[in-house]
Amino acid sequence: MRDLSTLPKAHLHLHFTGSMRLDTLVDLAQSERSRLPASFIDGDPLHVPADHRGWFRFQRAYDTARHLVRDEETMRRIVLEAALDDAAEGSRRLEIQVDPTSYAPFVGGITPALEIILDAAAQATVLSGTQVAVVVAASRIRHPLEARTLARLAARYAGDGPGTVVGFGLSNDERAGQTASWGPAFRIARRAGLASLPHAGELLGPGHVRDVVGSLGPTRLGHGVRVSEDPALLDAVVAAGISLEVCPASNVCLGVYREAGDVPLRALLDHGAQVALGADDPLLFRTRLVDQYSIARSLGLDDEALAELARGSIRASLADEESKRVWLAEVDAWLAAPEA
Ligand SMILES: [Zn+2]
Repeated sequence: MRDLSTLPKAHLHLHFTGSMRLDTLVDLAQSERSRLPASFIDGDPLHVPADHRGWFRFQRAYDTARHLVRDEETMRRIVLEAALDDAAEGSRRLEIQVDPTSYAPFVGGITPALEIILDAAAQATVLSGTQVAVVVAASRIRHPLEARTLARLAARYAGDGPGTVVGFGLSNDERAGQTASWGPAFRIARRAGLASLPHAGELLGPGHVRDVVGSLGPTRLGHGVRVSEDPALLDAVVAAGISLEVCPASNVCLGVYREAGDVPLRALLDHGAQVALGADDPLLFRTRLVDQYSIARSLGLDDEALAELARGSIRASLADEESKRVWLAEVDAWLAAPEA
């Protein structure tokens, strides 16, 4: 078995606050003289049922962390640490999701908030060696008009390289709001060349995925695992070239599946889906990127299949073609090297 931390890969599903190191959160709490809930420091991953109350508990924990991010220095630190941690796990490309609205009050508005993140992403790329690009994500629990404002802002920084906005997302409770009402925001983003990267197929099943595919024209689905419940839909998603950002540990923590063995990764791959494994929120779920590949290995994927999974993550990324070619060749070299 080869070392999964040296397998070149792309990390396409990681939230800004959720990427935070626990040590960093503890530092922030100490400097604010605020006490962290025991759930953070007991060393166990969050584990909630997949209902409204479970989601509320998850969101409350997430908000506790978010409320401690109150200045530019902390925002820059989070981006850099996420990049360094990714680099140590073989990630060549990180596409980190952020809703700048949350940090806007502390830095003078959403425009400076996004510019800080983008500048930090460009610097972190140089310091870590992992390309860091940004996905601006609207929230389902805010008004769709706010999403349009965010999409217009994101459009101004559109690109494919480090320190640019590469996509537009939609996060938070999949059960909240009417999907079609975010259509205009996604149209603004797509017209600017941004990829459409909404969450779907995590807490809700095939019916909702159809809705998202019809209304938001996704390039990739955040999670998308529950597409597996409808083989015809899965075939349509594969045929449309929509990739899936699968986060196995997150699925177990949020009660979507009882255990890692129930995550239908193999079924998705057997149907030809292009999958990029992601950690989602390591701060709460206590696992990072390589852990997701270890879970895939525990599901029976051999090194060849794991290398193909990593290739899928690279192909599903929004990096330029030359970078992808280099990283894909590095995956071939990983596989060609003798097993440890
Ligand atoms: Zn997510």
